[in-house]
Amino acid sequence: MASNARLDHRNPFVFDTHELGRRPGALQRLTRTVDAPRDFGLQGVIEVPEGAPVELDLRLESVMEGVLVTGTARAQAEGECVRCLEPLQLDVEADFQEMFSYPDADDRGRVKAEPVDDAEEDEDRLLLEDGLFDLEPVLRDAVVLALPMQPVCQEDCPGLCSECGARLADDPDHHHDAVDIRWAALQGLAGTMSDGEKDEMSGDGPESARAAEKQEK
Ligand SMILES: [Zn+2]
Ligand SMILES: [Zn+2]
Repeated sequence: MASNARLDHRNPFVFDTHELGRRPGALQRLTRTVDAPRDFGLQGVIEVPEGAPVELDLRLESVMEGVLVTGTARAQAEGECVRCLEPLQLDVEADFQEMFSYPDADDRGRVKAEPVDDAEEDEDRLLLEDGLFDLEPVLRDAVVLALPMQPVCQEDCPGLCSECGARLADDPDHHHDAVDIRWAALQGLAGTMSDGEKDEMSGDGPESARAAEKQEK
C-alpha cells in the first residue's frame, strides 16, 4: 500500500474514530463544516470554489474489519451554462460510503501469504491510521460524481444565437432578417397595409433593405 504522510488530526478532513471504539455495532453520528479544498469538482466546468463551506453529515459504524463511513456532503458549486455561458450556481448534495480498515485486520489469517495479491487489493483499500481516517479523497470523488458534466442554467436553456451570439433566453423573439427572407417577403406583401411595419423591417440586414427598396419602386 502507498503509505501516505501521517494523518494530522488538525486537518479538517481527518476524523478520529477513538471515541467510536472498536466494538462492532457501535455508532457515531457527527456533523462538520469544512472549507472546500482546491479543485473540488470538475475543473473548468463546475466546481465548489476553494474555501466555500462544505457541510458534512457522517455516520461512523464500527464493524469487524474497520469503520464504515456513510455520509452526505452539501455545498454550492459554481460554473457556467454549457449552452449560453452564463455563470450559474448549483446546490450539490453528494452521498458517499467508504470502508476504512484497521491495518491489522488483514482478512483472517491469510495475511502475508500472497504479497502480490495483497498489494493489488490494497490499492483500493483505505486504512485507518492510529484510528484516524482522511475523508478528502472520498469527498472529492463523491462531489465530482454528483456534479453535472454539462451544467445548464435551466433545463430548456435555448443557448446562444448562432448568428450573433445573443443569449436566446433573454430574447426569445430574437431573429435575423437573413434567416427570415421568406417571412420578410410575406411581410413585404402585407406592408402595403401598414407603414409602421415596413419601417421596422428595414432596420438592418441587406435582405430587408433590398426588400424595402423593391417596395418603393
Ligand atoms: Zn444557459
Ligand atoms: Zn442573433
